[in-house]
Amino acid sequence: MDIIKKYALKNAIDHNGKAVAKAVLPKVLGEDPSLKSDIPSLMKNIEAVVKEVNSMTLDEQISQLKKIAPELLVRERSVQGLPDLPNVGSHVVLRLAPYPSGPLQIGNARMAILNDEYAKKYNGKLILFYDDTIGTSSTTDKLSKGIMPKAYGWIEQDLKWLEVEWHETYYKSDRLEIYYDYCEQLIKKGKAYVCTCDANVWRSVYKAGKKPCPCRSREVEENLYLWDKMLNGAFSEGKAVVRLKTGMELADPAVRDHVIMRISFKDHPRVGKRYCVWPTMEFSWAIDNYLLGVTHVIRGKDLMKEDVVEKQIFDMFGWKHINYLHFGRFSIAIPKSKLKEMIKRGEIKEYDDPRTWNIPSLRRRGIQPEAIREYILHFGMSLADVEGSPEILYGKNRKIIDPIAKRYYFVKDPVKLRLHGYPVPFEAKVPLHPEVEFGYKLYKLDRGETYILVEKKDVNKEARLKDLMNVVFSDGEAIYSQDDLSVKKIHWVLDDHKVKVKVVMPDARVIEGYAESYIKDCKVGDVIQFERFGFGRVDSLDPVVVYYAHR
Ligand SMILES: [Zn+2]
Repeated sequence: MDIIKKYALKNAIDHNGKAVAKAVLPKVLGEDPSLKSDIPSLMKNIEAVVKEVNSMTLDEQISQLKKIAPELLVRERSVQGLPDLPNVGSHVVLRLAPYPSGPLQIGNARMAILNDEYAKKYNGKLILFYDDTIGTSSTTDKLSKGIMPKAYGWIEQDLKWLEVEWHETYYKSDRLEIYYDYCEQLIKKGKAYVCTCDANVWRSVYKAGKKPCPCRSREVEENLYLWDKMLNGAFSEGKAVVRLKTGMELADPAVRDHVIMRISFKDHPRVGKRYCVWPTMEFSWAIDNYLLGVTHVIRGKDLMKEDVVEKQIFDMFGWKHINYLHFGRFSIAIPKSKLKEMIKRGEIKEYDDPRTWNIPSLRRRGIQPEAIREYILHFGMSLADVEGSPEILYGKNRKIIDPIAKRYYFVKDPVKLRLHGYPVPFEAKVPLHPEVEFGYKLYKLDRGETYILVEKKDVNKEARLKDLMNVVFSDGEAIYSQDDLSVKKIHWVLDDHKVKVKVVMPDARVIEGYAESYIKDCKVGDVIQFERFGFGRVDSLDPVVVYYAHR
């Protein structure tokens, strides 16, 4: 029975929660060919299980499959790492749909990178489509404070940095007349109506009671008259909406006679107050996906309900369905709730504050775009919700930057000691990288003494100042001693060659200390490693500020 159940669950999850018995049969037989001996009774069993599975919500299906066969939640990977797209015809057209409320988050980056990977794999077209209608989002982006004019540019910059290649750019806010036209067609077909019920009454009486409201039976002429009034601004916000006749009896209350047009007098950053009627996301998507010839929609599973409405709109116009593919929720394991509070309280002001974990903040820390892409692809198209560990991202980033990061010493919590007893002239060449030929930092000590900074915690009996000399500590002094490479190596900065450095940590704490003045040879944007401390990115040189990446 478990074999049937797992494939029924898998089939349901892959098809918006509805399994089909015929599709489950070959999978079951593939795993246990002995069942071929009695296919009619096997089929009966499958049908019973499918019925049971189809009565569950998608989340229940996913959690059950996770229990009995978690391996099936990760879709089969092809050689390139991602499963093949279904129903690929002569060309593939995909779209990215960012809501311009701020810089890209890592979750948006996932959507962008997966679409980009598929566009490249099939040599297809990728459309960047700003989902900038008033009132969109908010279900997917709880932090959003609405459309932010600067965000359009930020998003393009972030996508370019992530090496996402798109071919065309559109703005929903340019296309209101198109949505109006299609809405009117639906009204004329009797498939949509203007509803003037109070929203609360509609929800509690009609939606909850699966009953049509009185507006549902309005004549087309009257609907057109009210629709015109909506467009002319005669209704105030919330006093009228256009509803699609999706059906009042549908099992999922969220899709019962879904709203497709609503009123808002808000100022829009691109089109001002030119429009007061705005489409909902599902409606505009259905129209745009059709008009732009989108073949595959790849998006988070939180948008599965939208598929249902979009498919209904396609049916109402008699258009051929397109393909919808989903992936699970994705987050990075950071204390997000705290982050939301901090943003609310206005404690986080800079859009690339390291605590935000958005793309600009990761870039600022020296996380490389290739590392983010590998990280995203590591989770593939998994439908299970993923809480990605930052350590996986750091591991991928470390591999990329380790060969290119020049090494410097950074001393925090310093003590200043007199260094003496060494033979003069004393010269040390400290390589900028242990394996790669980046040259070296040259130190010439020709007086008999100098001053050196080391970390307080490193001052014990004896130590090796890495790449310089061994010393014995005694009473505020570091005295040259015999070379013995087995002694603990510590980092150091010569007082004559020191420069003050601030390191901004991922939690926005600032650690101050001193680095070698050679760090001034870096360019802003270089990734470096402070030995025994961690990798980071040079954020400014005057003063020297480094954003910490990871160990
Ligand atoms: Zn109504």
